[in-house]
Amino acid sequence: MFALVDCNNFYVSCERVFNPACRNKPVVVLSNNDGCIISRSEEAKKLGIKMAEPAFKIKELIEKNKVAVFSSNYALYGNMSERVMNTIATLVKDMEIYSIDEVFLDMKGYANESLSDFAYRIRNRVFQWTGVPVSVGIGSTKTLAKIAAKIAKKNTGVFIFTESEKSDEILNKYPVEDIWGVGRQYAHFLKKFGYDTALKLKNSDDAFMKKYMKIVGLRTVYELRGIPCYKLQTHVPMKENICTARSFGKMTEDFETIAEATANYTATCARKLRKMKACASLITIFLQTNYFREDLGQYNNAKVLHIPVATNATNELIFYALSGLRLIYKKGYLYKKAGVIVSGISSENEQQLSLMGNEAHKTNEKLMKVFDAINEKMGKDKLRFAAQGFDRKWKLRQEKLSPNYTTKWEDILKISL
Ligand SMILES: [Mg+2]
Repeated sequence: MFALVDCNNFYVSCERVFNPACRNKPVVVLSNNDGCIISRSEEAKKLGIKMAEPAFKIKELIEKNKVAVFSSNYALYGNMSERVMNTIATLVKDMEIYSIDEVFLDMKGYANESLSDFAYRIRNRVFQWTGVPVSVGIGSTKTLAKIAAKIAKKNTGVFIFTESEKSDEILNKYPVEDIWGVGRQYAHFLKKFGYDTALKLKNSDDAFMKKYMKIVGLRTVYELRGIPCYKLQTHVPMKENICTARSFGKMTEDFETIAEATANYTATCARKLRKMKACASLITIFLQTNYFREDLGQYNNAKVLHIPVATNATNELIFYALSGLRLIYKKGYLYKKAGVIVSGISSENEQQLSLMGNEAHKTNEKLMKVFDAINEKMGKDKLRFAAQGFDRKWKLRQEKLSPNYTTKWEDILKISL
């Protein structure tokens, strides 16, 4: 048996932990640059606010119903996610962290009758220790556990999917596009052939599925039948690339501003590489104008640079990123977005060294150790490279950002008596 623990309306729930005034009220969280709705409380859903809806389009609805609005605060959500996962780890040994707010668990060894008790124990402990409400879905395959979690969310928070007449009834009401692994395109295709519910997919013809949906589609069908095709992935394979890209708060032509933003995105990539104990041998820099503003002229370009000795040192990566940026930057355009991708990722311990001497490389390695130790102690970005600048003119629009309650000493909640 597999369980899926899924945090309810995760970003909204994180905001509510530290802001009790927002409980039992409509709350939404916006995407980067305060663009679209990416998380909604149940109350907000009831008002008819849709996922991915641009915030400006429903401004009136928000004001009229006093909906609490937050910019996305990834420092907070990342840290809360860690707390949720660590809490679950005190109860279960084998887990696969699937996303920021979802984790698969291996439930083998638990008798059916104790499964439900156990699920409630997870739910209660996570809520008590972190303040985040979760739903627990259990099934004989990961696909069924996913479905069970969706049902759990709408009911008491726990649902166990067991094969019975009732289970077919559930699958009969379950839309095909909501099945794990069925993307929007596949859903469109399946519906054309009459497979519009999970039950129809479960009872579909194997040969047809294999022909048109390939082995991956057939696996989904088997999983719906309760035959596990996907195991728990307890160790995560190394990422193939890391991308940091953002839209600027305001469009800009200024090279210095764009360079500063690029240096900061690079610093983020470098920090992630070091956390993974990995190095990159390729770096891509890209620059874009605003594609909604045809009238302002369009120019998009990207440059890939090969790094002679794979590295995770912020200063080295910034050097290459800015060299790349200089090659693609063209004056006379208003730019909207820039980004950095590091790839060719391999483990820190298996680096090919240079024939031309590795002194600089070794020095940077030591430098980064001290750099990370100081920032770990004093706060993110306390120590930074000059290229990263200070005034952050390129910064995202985040007008409704909540404090970093859990990751910044200055932002810790104070209680006055
Ligand atoms: Mg969720």
